[in-house]
Amino acid sequence: MIEVRVKPGVEEKIRGFFSWVYNAEILEIKGEPKPGDFVKVLDSKKKFLGYGYINPNTKIAVRLLSFEKGEEISKELIKRRILSALEYRKKLNINSNAYRLVHSEGDLLPGLIVDMYDQYAVIEITTYGMFKMKDWVLEALVEILKPKGVYQKVSDYAMNIEGFDEEERILYGTVPERIKIWEGDLEFYVDVIKGQKTGFYLDQRRARKMIRDLVKPGDVCLDAFCHTGGFALSMIKKGAKSVIAVDMSERALSLGKENAKLNGLEGIQWVEDNAFHFLRKLYREGYKFDVIVIDPPSFARTKAHVENALRGYKELCVTGLKLAKAGGYFAIYSCSFHITREHLLEVILQASRDVKKPLRIVGESFQDLDHPWILQMPNTLYLKGIYLEVLR
Ligand code: SAH
Repeated sequence: MIEVRVKPGVEEKIRGFFSWVYNAEILEIKGEPKPGDFVKVLDSKKKFLGYGYINPNTKIAVRLLSFEKGEEISKELIKRRILSALEYRKKLNINSNAYRLVHSEGDLLPGLIVDMYDQYAVIEITTYGMFKMKDWVLEALVEILKPKGVYQKVSDYAMNIEGFDEEERILYGTVPERIKIWEGDLEFYVDVIKGQKTGFYLDQRRARKMIRDLVKPGDVCLDAFCHTGGFALSMIKKGAKSVIAVDMSERALSLGKENAKLNGLEGIQWVEDNAFHFLRKLYREGYKFDVIVIDPPSFARTKAHVENALRGYKELCVTGLKLAKAGGYFAIYSCSFHITREHLLEVILQASRDVKKPLRIVGESFQDLDHPWILQMPNTLYLKGIYLEVLR
């Protein structure tokens, strides 16, 4: 097996269960690695650190799957990892038949996402190493879950960086155009094949519950970047009088409308528009809301985009806070690792000065627990939400 020796000092991080080795941290490679090859990682004195796979063409050169001597990468290891991922989800007692089964580094399966929608699995592979193990992953999933179908989604962004090529397609069984899932007392259609990400924002499950706790019967609410209506439906179900739900994806909105029908819920006005423009328009027209949710897409995929992203957030906060009634609530999320909780708090603080409204923090949320967040791997925490009461 190819051996990768890391520079002195790097071993400490890896012994502390940090599972990446950056290219710049490599001292020496024994062998000529091709993308996806399995490697043994050693410290500078050639002591064992772990097993992983390599991509010599990317900044993150090695991703580890094991820190145990003798636990080499094999189909059995992949299967064991998926089994233990499943065991963990079972312990969570998730109140839904849709959940994330594998969350990449969070489950020691770097480069692999598996979402379960009822009896269908949706996988997304984001690294060359995992791409080479795809057959093992598929066999293990079929053996463990006996799904009716497995669908593969792809990320052009990841494939570009890693240098592999895959297509979106059914890998096993059959997959319907729409899968019906339930979460608590709501049902949703999920468009796995043509929808965004793997089809549904499972990571906001806990946030949907927290928003429900803030809504009172009769409230007038706003769901900005609503996608297929996860928050909007939760608000109406709690008794909100009306919700304005805006998104620029016509496809997401039309599924949102069907989701409302599916649950027999009325009172949501679906608007296809750019949320930035639309929020300003609402303000100009004098609208005010009891509860406002702002859940934008990732504006900062890399560090280089942070500044621009923060400008976007600032604008959303300023307009959003202006739209809030005194005593109303305002929630905002970042799903980018690079826009941290501290960034969000700072931007909200700046916005509150601009609009001269005192704010009380009434809650915070993170991605739900089926998207595990490993203390030693800070990048596994990507979704943050801040909930505020607008005091005047
Ligand atoms: N709140 C949603 C998830 C939001 S994901 C849920 O819980 O299901 C981000 C959404 O923002 C996507 O649906 C995308 O279509 C939409 N979007 C991206 N840019 C936008 C823009 N400028 N204006 C309106 N919607 C936008």
